[in-house]
Amino acid sequence: MSDNTKLKERGDNVFIGTYARYPAAMVQGTGCRLTDADGKDYLDFLSGIAVCALGHSHPDVRDAICSQAGQLVHVSNLYYTKPQIELAELITTNSFGDKIFLCNSGAEANEAAIKLARIQSDEGRYKIISLAGSFHGRTLATVAATGQPKFHQGFEPLPEGFLHAPFGDLAALEQLVDKETCAILCEPLQGEGGVRPLTKEYLQGIRALCDKHGLLLIFDEIQTGMGRTGTLFAYEQLGIVPDIITMAKALGNGLPIGGMMTTDEIASSFVPGTHASTFGGNPVACAAAVTTVNIMLADGFLAGVQEKGLYFKAEIQKLVERFPALLTSVRGMGLIVGGVLTEKGVTLGGEIVTKMFERGFLMNFAGNSVLRFVPPLIVTKSEIDEIIAALAEVLADY
Ligand SMILES: *Cc1c(COP(=O)(O)O)cnc(C)c1O
Repeated sequence: MSDNTKLKERGDNVFIGTYARYPAAMVQGTGCRLTDADGKDYLDFLSGIAVCALGHSHPDVRDAICSQAGQLVHVSNLYYTKPQIELAELITTNSFGDKIFLCNSGAEANEAAIKLARIQSDEGRYKIISLAGSFHGRTLATVAATGQPKFHQGFEPLPEGFLHAPFGDLAALEQLVDKETCAILCEPLQGEGGVRPLTKEYLQGIRALCDKHGLLLIFDEIQTGMGRTGTLFAYEQLGIVPDIITMAKALGNGLPIGGMMTTDEIASSFVPGTHASTFGGNPVACAAAVTTVNIMLADGFLAGVQEKGLYFKAEIQKLVERFPALLTSVRGMGLIVGGVLTEKGVTLGGEIVTKMFERGFLMNFAGNSVLRFVPPLIVTKSEIDEIIAALAEVLADY
């Protein structure tokens, strides 16, 4: 029996079955490449679900982790630590934010945003409107905010006060606003929902609507943040500023960390006792994040993400023209790219991804509509050429 198969059997024996895993046990990674237990190599265009933005085992992040782990691993938020302060300074200095709450995951960051939106509102307003097709996490409140009924099934009753507006329809969104609404929560581009961008006009419309009705605008930038779209946060490209931003995924280049950032005024509603996290802002995770964000902010890095994103999209567009029966269009921002499948293509989406996996290429099928690519942001044009060539061969088989 191969080492992959042995590990798969052991894992399946002991894991609660929340994931349908591919039959590979990954043992090592460098840059955009992974190696499994049988020594097979993969070119990774999924990055641990948009997490390893600087690639696997980046030497500077590794050194930051090792050095911090040798010094201090955890003390809780009853005390200050330097890595946590440095991270908070770095992110707030490079964004609209004044204050940040650090936690351990995307869902936790959204939970913090939801609690803050409710506690800061006057007269007990509590309703939060999000969009159909959105994804905000798997805790009960964030799953209630998620605009996809398949994630709700079996978990009712869900926490109250979460409404969903149809995708991209401003008038319908405004109709849902009432005297009990406190915030609108949305992703600038829906990642899990199928790399679905919202137009600049629509997002500016939401901002105006929030101003008109005194609502907070919460941007879930858990996937679009940390350089993924070619700016540190996607909002920078939209000509508007949200009131709260949540981040996680690529923040620690693989260490679990999330954050909820806002202005001084809004942040003042959280005081000692209102919210907390034992592990949040852990020094090792923060040391990894400081190094990660500094690399992203260094000269040319984000411009490179934009340039490679345009190149990647142009290459997918060529596949769209070559395989019109399978692909209809390409969409995305920076290095979150989706090849939109036709009706026939959608029925083959899972199979295409499996065939690519067998050939040693990692990507996924998102929102039951697109082939999604979220490579490490350090990906090279020749690595893009490699996956495009393999995908062309797989598509040509149909
Ligand atoms: C991944 C994701 C989340 C949830 O993050 P977790 O770390 O898995 O809890 C929430 N919102 C968006 C947009 C995401 O992509």
